Amino acid sequence: MRIDIVTLFPDLCDSFLDTSILGRARKRGLFDAHCHQIRDYTANKQRQTDDYPYGGGPGMVLYAQPIADCLRAVQAQCAQAGYPEPHIVFLTAAGRPYTEADAKRLTRYDCLTLVCGHYEGIDERVIEAFADEELSIGDYVLTGGELAALAVADSVLRLQPGVLAEQQGYEEESYWDDLLEYPQYTRPEVWEDRAVPPVLLTGDHEKIESWRAEQSRARTRARRPDLYERWAGTHPRAVPKWKRGEKAQLVRTDAQLEQAAAVYHAAWQRQRQDLCTPAYLAANSRQVFAAELARDRAAGWAFYLHTTDGMPDALVGVHRPSGEISRLYVLPEMQGRGIGSKLLDFARKKITSDGKTPWLEVLSFFPGAQRLYRRMGFVPTGDARALDSTPNLPGTPAPVLLRFRYAPQA
Ligand code: SAM
Repeated sequence: MRIDIVTLFPDLCDSFLDTSILGRARKRGLFDAHCHQIRDYTANKQRQTDDYPYGGGPGMVLYAQPIADCLRAVQAQCAQAGYPEPHIVFLTAAGRPYTEADAKRLTRYDCLTLVCGHYEGIDERVIEAFADEELSIGDYVLTGGELAALAVADSVLRLQPGVLAEQQGYEEESYWDDLLEYPQYTRPEVWEDRAVPPVLLTGDHEKIESWRAEQSRARTRARRPDLYERWAGTHPRAVPKWKRGEKAQLVRTDAQLEQAAAVYHAAWQRQRQDLCTPAYLAANSRQVFAAELARDRAAGWAFYLHTTDGMPDALVGVHRPSGEISRLYVLPEMQGRGIGSKLLDFARKKITSDGKTPWLEVLSFFPGAQRLYRRMGFVPTGDARALDSTPNLPGTPAPVLLRFRYAPQA
């Protein structure tokens, strides 16, 4: 691959490309890089590269002409060296956000040219005339495009065969599969009273892999829910296995109904504590929930209480005549252990075994629950109904109930 950088600071770019991993790869001929001085292509005596903006305003704007002539020279050099027409990328703060997917895509070009702006930017006409695309490396403004071009060059070149010692090096890293990387540790085993997670010292590769995968998912879910959602959409998760000590029991007795109401109440309150008014939360007491479950049970709902080692920690409701599933709640301290997935799968099977299609409704402001339903084969039907009975805190979204239906192949 050949990379050309069009810039007012070619030495800066060259020295970066001559350093460390890229420097070694460049010396070994694993890529070819050329940094071009825009100033060398000016057509005025003073070698001036910029001028005041038409229409007024602060700062200076880079002339179109020297950049265009520099790009024509790059095109000619590439052709002479037997490369195809270069793919030209302008680095601009207003460009499309650059991601690892772009890095992978850009590796497909044998010849890549990166153009750096400076001052207030570049005369738009040269961008229109030459740019195949405009990329931004983030939602912030730099003084020049060099750091951005080098970020793009670095992330593309490290994917070139041979640049990194092991291909696995990049295939396991953050963003490769839409997930952030798991935490890494090296010697010593204990540093300033902080020990390396014991699983990494077991030598059991299967266990280590599964710990890393879980860390990776948990980090992504916490730090980048947007990425996690995308990942979860393309990686439907197998239902976790029921562990010894876990059970789901039909709620039959009053005592069980009280336990179910306690779980429902605790999880419900936590889920809404930052969304609803204190008065509304206080009005929905445990007794109110117990009465609601008793009433619905009399109307044909079956409630199943999940216990771990005899301790109630989750609940689900199934209405077999209509196929509806509801009241899927897991105690806050028991969340993240797959109990919600198992209980949803359990409830879903009760309905599909009757030959019915399971469905459920979820409030629009619970994206975590929606992710779980999607992962478990439920898809939004597009039906939504507004709820006016949930008094929300000012500034929180108005409640809307979204309907999902079980359609595992969709
Ligand atoms: N006036 C421009 C604007 O508001 O969009 C910002 C110009 S900036 C000060 C100067 C140059 O830095 C730009 O022409 C561009 O090449 C580069 N630059 C600044 N921020 C960037 C970003 N987030 N991504 C890519 N390039 C950036």
